Amino acid sequence: MEGAEAAWMSVIRSGYFILGPQVEQLEQEMAAYCGVSNALGVSSGTDALLLALMTADIGAGDEVITTPFTFFATAGSISRTGAKPVFVDIQPDSFNIDPEKIEAAITPNTRAIMPVHLYGQCADMDAINAIAQKHNLLVFEDAAQASGATHKGRQAGSMGDFGCYSFFPTKNLGGFGDGGMVTVRDAALFEKSKILRVHGSAPKYYHKLIGGNFRIDALQAAVLRAKLPFLDTWLAFRRGNAHRYTQLFTEAGLDTVVGLPPEVVPGHTFNQYVIRVRDGKRDALRAALAEKKIMTEIYYPVPLHLQECFADLGYKAGDFPVSEQAADEVLALPAANEVTEAQQKHVVAAIRAFFK
Ligand SMILES: *Cc1c(COP(=O)(O)O)cnc(C)c1O
Repeated sequence: MEGAEAAWMSVIRSGYFILGPQVEQLEQEMAAYCGVSNALGVSSGTDALLLALMTADIGAGDEVITTPFTFFATAGSISRTGAKPVFVDIQPDSFNIDPEKIEAAITPNTRAIMPVHLYGQCADMDAINAIAQKHNLLVFEDAAQASGATHKGRQAGSMGDFGCYSFFPTKNLGGFGDGGMVTVRDAALFEKSKILRVHGSAPKYYHKLIGGNFRIDALQAAVLRAKLPFLDTWLAFRRGNAHRYTQLFTEAGLDTVVGLPPEVVPGHTFNQYVIRVRDGKRDALRAALAEKKIMTEIYYPVPLHLQECFADLGYKAGDFPVSEQAADEVLALPAANEVTEAQQKHVVAAIRAFFK
């Protein structure tokens, strides 16, 4: 944190607050970390998704296949371009889009697949990329929860045509406010995304394209640069915490009572440690834990196909049973970097007491 504080002060003294050298250096450092040639700093993870879609000219008449079990921004961004989100159910173990169900959702209007690496674990990118290649579709990775996660040695966000990251404070790599990043595989499209980031302006005040304000602050870039060298160490710590939870649950005989999160794809970063609580007991357990000042969260209680704003897409309850069951059962436990072994034991003991 001292590094971040010093970096923050140097930006304040420089007076260079939007884009500029700090942002350019962050882009180079993130690109090197992710193993890609191009990265673009943007205003948020949501804007990363929107800008990537706009760069690829996704819009009215297009369909983009994605998961209904994710944060709203995934499908919200697709809709904001004028395109239609088309949902495909998830795998019960990884909570990520089920590649075996993707092909049935492809129509002549399908332009792209947007997998999400939920809770910090990569979706099955080999299978997804193979389908995309076969049907000539683009792949937009929503890696907002998975900075630093890997899939067979490749970084989350480096495997598709576009990779979208969030630097929201609670993400794996978080700033002191909003921020995000887009990786763009195609060099010409990268140049286009850069122009769209500043209202499509190139040269300044001349607009061939309509973009937006998708800029990141230099203050955020400076903080992120100070933190990036520690990311892998922090993620190793997070993984250690996750494995300890699993071990503590197993020792307490709870591994058959609650569902523990398997590492389906090695390289899981456990942005969230999410258990499944069956038989309609999830909300009661959550309340019992809150009584003991153990704060948990539900990511996400309503799958996107059942959100009011998507009613005109025509989905109904029962369309995606795996996602709907997950929404009823998931519970994220305290698993941030600061959680101690004693706190984890306290959480597991409280859960054991509930099920006695
Ligand atoms: C956080 C998140 C986003 C949006 O990121 P912001 O930086 O908050 O805009 C998008 N998709 C997923 C899956 C997320 O978890």
